Amino acid sequence: MTSLRQPPNFYAGNNFNRLAERRRDDQWLATVLDSGEACLVPLWQGRNLIAGGLAAPALALLDTQTVASIDSIREPVLLGEFRGKFCFAVELHGDTAPVSPELGEFHDLRTVGGQMNRDEAGLLGYARALLVWRGRHRYCGSCGAATVSINAGHTLKCSNAACGISHFPRLDPAIIVLVTDGERVLLGRQAQWPARRYSTIAGYIEWAESVEEAVAREVHEEAGVMIDEVEYHSSQPWPFPSSLMLGFIAHAATTSISRLDDELEDARWFSRDEIVGGAIMLPQSQALSYRLIETWYDRGATRPLRVELSERQAASMKADG
Ligand SMILES: [Zn+2]
Repeated sequence: MTSLRQPPNFYAGNNFNRLAERRRDDQWLATVLDSGEACLVPLWQGRNLIAGGLAAPALALLDTQTVASIDSIREPVLLGEFRGKFCFAVELHGDTAPVSPELGEFHDLRTVGGQMNRDEAGLLGYARALLVWRGRHRYCGSCGAATVSINAGHTLKCSNAACGISHFPRLDPAIIVLVTDGERVLLGRQAQWPARRYSTIAGYIEWAESVEEAVAREVHEEAGVMIDEVEYHSSQPWPFPSSLMLGFIAHAATTSISRLDDELEDARWFSRDEIVGGAIMLPQSQALSYRLIETWYDRGATRPLRVELSERQAASMKADG
């Protein structure tokens, strides 16, 4: 039995009501959109509209009047009820940002999301995932005919009557795993990451394998380590563009490292002292990889990782200042 972790992982535990029962209610949808009361969450060139600038990024919503003045928007997609408002995602087009700067700027959520209120980032991630999926399924992958948006934007149906396939929002399951031999943790780094950044091992689940087999395969491919126990930790939606990260803690049966593929530039074992002592740069704290490291660390330490790191950061700022 896995308990619901508190707080939920970033981009999960969202404080909105999806109103899934309204997606087929065309009359209700038309009434809400015509009322002028609906809020619109825009996406332009894969970027979300952000208020407050990069210093204090926050959710920016548009009203229907503003969006009506913009050319060639596609159908609104029902997101649900958020802070008492009915919200829809809309994709905006054009070579220049189609919104005046005082309403906000368009930024990549991957860059700004971690600094935002988690409910606001969750809504933007949901809008981003749905709109990116729709943009990639404008034509039927089976027969090539154009697709038509139905169910408040949550289904794209092939317009060719002889085909008629329904396409649904895509979700790509991936595993992310912290491997430990008890006292040490196995972390790796990719060549394009910032210097000293290490993280847990991750990869997509493939056809014809179970989730736990994917965990064992990825650890073996990327580090040559065999595992014998897998414990589920928690999961995290990762809307870049459509991953669902399934997090595990695994026990290593072997410790010798050899990399079979080139996905990682380096893979090593680290002790708790090295993790807390700043030997490496940890993943961002809203990432599931960080929570896996934190869970493992806290199980074998007298003081929590977050407390240790914030005290050390405060001490170094004092020394610098
Ligand atoms: Zn088709």
